[in-house]
Amino acid sequence: MKKEEIFWHNLSWKDAVEKLKTDIENGLSEEEAKERRRQFDKNLLPAKKPLPKIKLFLEQFKSPLIYILVVAGFIVLFFKEFSDAVVIFLAIILNTVVGYFQEIKADRALEKLKKVVKIKAEVIRSGNAKIIDSAELVPGDIFVLNPGDKVPADGRIIACHNLKINEMILTGEWLAAHKKTDALAKETPLADRDNMVFMGTVVEDGTAKAVVVSTGSKTEIGKIAQMVGQIKEEKTPLQKKLGWFSKIIGIGIVAICFFIFIAGIISGRNFLEIFTVSIAIAIAAIPEGLPVAMTVILALGMQRILKKKGLVRRLVSAETLGNVSVIATDKTATLTEGKMRVAEIVTASKSEHSLALKIAALCSRAFIENPQEVMEKWVVRGAPTDRALLLAGIEGGINRYALEKEMSEVVEFAFNSKDKYQAKAFRVNKKKYFYIAGAPEKLLEISRYLRKNGRKEILTFKEKKKIKQKLEQLSRRGLRVIAVAEKEIRSLKKPAARNLVFVGLLALKDPLRRRAKQAIKICQQAGIKVIIVTGDHKLTAKAVAEELGFKIKEENIIEGKDLDRLSKEEFLRRIKDIQIYARVEPRHKMRIVQAWQDKGEVIAMTGDGVNDASALKKADIGIALGSGTEVAKEVSDLVLLTDNFDIITAAVEEGRAIIDNIRKVITYLFSDSLTETILVGASIFFGLPLPVSAAQILWVNLIEDGFPNIALAFEPKERDLMKLKPRAHKSSLLTNEMKVLIVIIGLITDFLLLGLFFWLYKYSNYEIAHIRTIIFVGLAINSLFYVFSCKSLRKNIWHINLFSNKLLSFAWILGGVMLLAAVYFSPLQTLLKTRSLNIFDWGLLFGLGLINVILIEATKWYFITRHQTE
Ligand code: ADP
Ligand code: MG
Repeated sequence: MKKEEIFWHNLSWKDAVEKLKTDIENGLSEEEAKERRRQFDKNLLPAKKPLPKIKLFLEQFKSPLIYILVVAGFIVLFFKEFSDAVVIFLAIILNTVVGYFQEIKADRALEKLKKVVKIKAEVIRSGNAKIIDSAELVPGDIFVLNPGDKVPADGRIIACHNLKINEMILTGEWLAAHKKTDALAKETPLADRDNMVFMGTVVEDGTAKAVVVSTGSKTEIGKIAQMVGQIKEEKTPLQKKLGWFSKIIGIGIVAICFFIFIAGIISGRNFLEIFTVSIAIAIAAIPEGLPVAMTVILALGMQRILKKKGLVRRLVSAETLGNVSVIATDKTATLTEGKMRVAEIVTASKSEHSLALKIAALCSRAFIENPQEVMEKWVVRGAPTDRALLLAGIEGGINRYALEKEMSEVVEFAFNSKDKYQAKAFRVNKKKYFYIAGAPEKLLEISRYLRKNGRKEILTFKEKKKIKQKLEQLSRRGLRVIAVAEKEIRSLKKPAARNLVFVGLLALKDPLRRRAKQAIKICQQAGIKVIIVTGDHKLTAKAVAEELGFKIKEENIIEGKDLDRLSKEEFLRRIKDIQIYARVEPRHKMRIVQAWQDKGEVIAMTGDGVNDASALKKADIGIALGSGTEVAKEVSDLVLLTDNFDIITAAVEEGRAIIDNIRKVITYLFSDSLTETILVGASIFFGLPLPVSAAQILWVNLIEDGFPNIALAFEPKERDLMKLKPRAHKSSLLTNEMKVLIVIIGLITDFLLLGLFFWLYKYSNYEIAHIRTIIFVGLAINSLFYVFSCKSLRKNIWHINLFSNKLLSFAWILGGVMLLAAVYFSPLQTLLKTRSLNIFDWGLLFGLGLINVILIEATKWYFITRHQTE
């Protein structure tokens, strides 16, 4: 507001609210909020500026390969070999331009993904609670905090219950701070300002209402945001492996080229010729573009997953997704729609009906953003269960808002998946009440009385049994059951959850997601085990699972408390059979993840609450529900924007496609490199003249191989990806088949080309430039032909759609045209020292290309059939 610093923690909350000209009941008015939005910046942390384009471009020159090229270019220039020099400098430019555009492409894709991440805040404006993008918060806004929220701005606490906030990012203290509301001394250090909440910190437990005192860069975290900086995207295991791998290969190739160079000199060849050719091979063979190509593939995959409503939060995860072999999923909202409705209310007698609804409605933490509108237009916010309870109350004629007006000194106890209940304590006139709603077993355990015909009776063993039977009956129908209870209390300070008066059961119906059934079938075909991990009753889970097409055996359902009794060994022995984990607490999720990982599986686990965070982190793929808490989302690898289970399946498929495409690119690239290296190496070894010139090698590498190689990164996924078994956890980058394929492709091509070269050299009367042109074209045609073989490493060429990748078709045509230009266009003829070819030559070359592809496909076929009989 004003220039002078205000010590908000030193003010009483009333003074703070007054200073900010706001109202704790109604919040700011919409108009006032809009007005203040104009005065203040968006509530965002200062973002790091992206690298300027020109700098990104110059970055491309910072590679050993470019250094070699530049030096080579000058040496060639020095010897006045202008055409070779031109080609080398062209190669430098093309390399950098391609690298630049690929990097931009990857960056853009990643940037877009970041923009999807928005933090929501619950505010009160014009008297209504509503959910807004936290960027829109302004000083004076009244906001509400729930467990699992990220504090959206710096605020002074107005009211709080049991509020525990983890302020590690600000203070380094990993123990949660207990918050209060009283004013504190002016000199209180930041870490002890317990009546304040700070942007970016995390609500571990409890609830609060607070007023925004500062936003964006004015917040405590905003002030140090520059210091914190941005977290660098970590490299994925494959990327690391690939980086290392390219380096080794690069060094190896430089060594080979050096060897070729020395051998050439010793055998008395022309210095300049052998020098430029060695350089050209080094350039052609070093897989410098591979790491970038990989980033592009990963980023494209992430984009495709986003289209299916899955947000992959880190590059690493995009790749790990492809290896997932176990999916542990929640039931509510992922497999079911999360659109619950109360289907049945069971109480001891009719007269308790409305009390049951009242308790349910008051305990519910759901709210309506626009209660003044007609019911059809309501925007109801909150967890599915909470929404169902609220709406049931309204349908039963319970007006929560009117009831709340009469209540005072309200204390709220938020739901947590450990205790499985939520409660509210409050005063109406002189009396104080405690209302509670939660899992029936839990509530039965802590109830001593039963409300029947309006009176409070002792809850007899017989009645208890009757209620339990009813619970089973309802659960068997796949209904989610919530019990409600109450009691009158003396003090609101610490109402104990015991000696309750049991009121009744509410059964909620949650329809299945239509596509979940199909998705589960796909998982089964893909060899992925799907297990259900739920806080719900085991019979409810069983009924839902069976409706989804699972065949569940009673002994394969295990409850959290039974899991506690299993030793590590026993659990590991049984784990393969367990299909449903019911009534689990978050710590059980941790154990399940650990056990599967001990078994060497790659496990994906869903979660939504604060307490799920550690299991999500531990899982190979932590999956947060879009409707879940900010904390869960923050530690997760994948966020399901619409909670739908089938997003997971789609993401796994894309993950597999990513790995597949990386392998295709590698195979293509390396077999090309190998071919070129052997071609030149062997001709020196056999004492033949060089079969191609340096400029020609560069041309093949940049144009004829280069474009298809980029296009290969855009390969659409193969259709049968989800019919394969998951790959081993630590599957190597190069499978044995790939290695053999690379070597065989290289050898076959070289054998054919060298044979042709030898034959032409010995028996034809073509001049050497003409023969070299033929070999050059042969090299190019081979690459252009067998890029189609690389479209699938698991299927023969006649089983795939050759034209499914438009970019590849384009690269192919472009390569073809450029090849013709290289042979017939006279400036290029001078540059590349080519000669025009005749019909006979072309026939020869096409025949060669065809034989090459046939031999490669035969090799593939051998592997495919051997694989099938295994
Ligand atoms: P899941 O997410 O696996 O469906 P939860 O941990 O959310 O399971 O819920 C476990 C149990 O806690 C439910 O079966 C229900 O009895 C109870 N419960 C869940 N949500 C609420 C709520 N908002 N209010 C009261 N009880 C709830
Ligand atoms: Mg839940």
